[in-house]
Amino acid sequence: MREYAIAAIPADGIGPEVIAAGLQALEALQRRMGSFRLHVEEFPWGSDFYKRTGAMMPADGLETLKKFDAIYFGAVGAPDVPDHVTLWGLRLPICQGFDQYANVRPTKILPGVTPPLRDCGPGDLDWVIVRENSEGEYAGHGGRAHRGLPEEVATEVAIFTRVGVTRIMRYAFRLAQARPRKLLTVVTKSNAQRFGMVMWDEIAEQVSKEFPDVTWDKMLVDAMTMRMVLKPQSLDTIVATNLHADILSDLAAALAGSLGVAPTGNVDPERRFPSMFEPIHGSAFDITGKGIANPVATFWTGAQMLEHLGEPEAAARLMAAVERVTASGLLTPDLGGTATTKQVTEAVCDAIHSAN
Ligand code: ATP
Ligand code: MG
Repeated sequence: MREYAIAAIPADGIGPEVIAAGLQALEALQRRMGSFRLHVEEFPWGSDFYKRTGAMMPADGLETLKKFDAIYFGAVGAPDVPDHVTLWGLRLPICQGFDQYANVRPTKILPGVTPPLRDCGPGDLDWVIVRENSEGEYAGHGGRAHRGLPEEVATEVAIFTRVGVTRIMRYAFRLAQARPRKLLTVVTKSNAQRFGMVMWDEIAEQVSKEFPDVTWDKMLVDAMTMRMVLKPQSLDTIVATNLHADILSDLAAALAGSLGVAPTGNVDPERRFPSMFEPIHGSAFDITGKGIANPVATFWTGAQMLEHLGEPEAAARLMAAVERVTASGLLTPDLGGTATTKQVTEAVCDAIHSAN
């Protein structure tokens, strides 16, 4: 029996609702398959923990997490706690502390889901967006001079390193190579930004030599938004900077039908540390406690986690069960349906049990 230690951090808002659903599906999968075991430990960190203790997680939180094979994460953010506390107190320290430099975001239109684009259905849109997750525009460099005065100047400096760009580019080429179409689009804004973005283009050229079987092209990010809407079939694997991919992946989630189905893995490809898997959406306090949060993104990221752990068959079974349920029309309100989180979760568990 293959065994894995999983740290579950449900955190805030609908986080606990979707993580409970995800764990239920993973449990059903283990019972059905009998070939692997997940030992899950839950950590009650997040905004409530902050209100009690003054910190989003304990000071030795990263030390504790280091012992796990992967982290299954819900969402952070609360209406009465500032964003910089929730974000910088839990999620980002994990991403940065464990050097999870590849943020991997699969997107496709699930069967049964009606996407906003006319004439676009399952198969027309099947992408993986790779977001650089450790530097770039969110490196936190810059400042404000003459604050509040008419002559105020603020700078926001994007930092790109050769090491950082090369490793994400290599990851993206390798991922593209492993997918059937072997197709990669490298996104930049190198016509207007002459330093970091030009270095991205140069490094893409260099790394591409290591992957002669991958077909690749370059796109400017503005043109890319049009291409995603007008020619979604022409794209497969996409790599972009921290900011660009942040924006493109929200567009991708909307084109696929809902933020509620979009998963993400924060991956340390070198496997020095645990990687973290989570739905892209936030804590969604507007629907918290109503029992209608879409658990599909959390199921899907659970499949990503299984894939990462080396259980591709389990990952495929989980996704097949999810697709059977969406295809049957059992959808939560964000996808135009009337199903509850519980109904979707039970249907997915049933589909796991009845699959051969
Ligand atoms: P945060 O600051 O934590 O990112 P947010 O309110 O900015 O929170 P989300 O929580 O991602 O952003 O929610 C954006 C919108 O999408 C909300 O209206 C929310 O209800 C909806 N939404 C997000 N996730 C889901 C989900 N899993 N199921 C249904 N609706 C969702
Ligand atoms: Mg948000």
